[in-house]
Amino acid sequence: MLENFYPAYTATVVQRLLDAGGRFVGKTNMDEFAMGSGSVDSIFGPVKNPWDSRCIAGGSSGGSAVAVATRAVDFALGSDTGGSVRNPASYCGVVGFKPSYGTVSRHGLISLLNSTDVPAIFSRTVSDTRTVFNVISGWDAKDSTTFKEPFPAPKKQLKQYSPDMPKLRIGIPREFLLPELFDHNLMPYKDTAKRLELLGADVRPISLPHSEYANACYAVLCACDVASNMARYDGIEFGHRSQAVVRGRILAGNYFLLKRNYSAYFEQAAKVRRLIADDFQRVFESGQADVILAPVTLGEAPELDAFCGLDNRTQQELQDWFTVGASLAGLPAISLPIGLSVKRQLPVGMQLIAPFREDLFLLDVAERLETSLRTQFGVDDGRPILENYWNDRSQTYGCV
Ligand code: GLN
Repeated sequence: MLENFYPAYTATVVQRLLDAGGRFVGKTNMDEFAMGSGSVDSIFGPVKNPWDSRCIAGGSSGGSAVAVATRAVDFALGSDTGGSVRNPASYCGVVGFKPSYGTVSRHGLISLLNSTDVPAIFSRTVSDTRTVFNVISGWDAKDSTTFKEPFPAPKKQLKQYSPDMPKLRIGIPREFLLPELFDHNLMPYKDTAKRLELLGADVRPISLPHSEYANACYAVLCACDVASNMARYDGIEFGHRSQAVVRGRILAGNYFLLKRNYSAYFEQAAKVRRLIADDFQRVFESGQADVILAPVTLGEAPELDAFCGLDNRTQQELQDWFTVGASLAGLPAISLPIGLSVKRQLPVGMQLIAPFREDLFLLDVAERLETSLRTQFGVDDGRPILENYWNDRSQTYGCV
């Protein structure tokens, strides 16, 4: 819809990268206004998965994931509101990092759900992600939600768990073991848990009791913000009128915000959001877990036709299931490529979620896991050779 729009100013994240010597080579395809989780709702057509062009790349920032996966660029930016960087990172076999809310300036970002939007990073290794994060994070006078105080030294240090990871507590949320995560999708999850255990971590079950409401809560809050954010795009000044998904959310948001509906929808969703954030806080503050391990998606990237098919709405709705919780709670979360799926040999990512503002700690833990994968499977362009994963798993990680 913004085909003929040229920004009148430069986003803070872009300016900081330019100042640090970065070079921008282009803009990437995505779902319109970042609404979606497949990168299929775009005027330019769907983004194709570089591992199998019949499959989706994930979304909404799918083009950025593909640019990194195909090595067109060293890193790319996307926006993660409910999972839009972690999801395509998982489907395309790259690292996708969503920092804590308020650590990276949103100035210049087109808002979706303002209170969960975070500029996020795609790269091939955790160390590249750290480099980009160091450049783009920090206080910005143009975004009042960024933290004034300098980035805190991590409260937790991986080296305190030396020599490797003993006693690092990794939580597996019971509620995330969905029946839809059927066997071959559950395996990479179990494998990663096992791998962390072998590294010395203490992997244990935890509970995030309000997880099942996260999707609905997000849908209401997002539509309400969309109704207000999109009011300026009236289809008069820029291009054509927006497409179905965008229009649907504007309508739903205005409905939720009607005087007679407001407390039943928006207010309720805001309360549920608090409960979801409290679930995470309780787990971290009570010492039940230092980091949470979760899937990113139900499994490998679905085929485009299946994803778009009406009979597959459940799959679409479950796309954000594992990622929206951390978004609603504002927590840092990273998707790390851990292997290929059994079915079609497509990449699968796993997610690590850390306490608020423990971004640096999260990157340390992710890097430790990445190093273990690299040591076992060999290194290609700085990252593990995932193709070796299934050949090897039966020996070391089978039967977990
Ligand atoms: N899939 C979610 C949505 O459609 C998340 C999008 C995002 O993170 N930008 O809103």
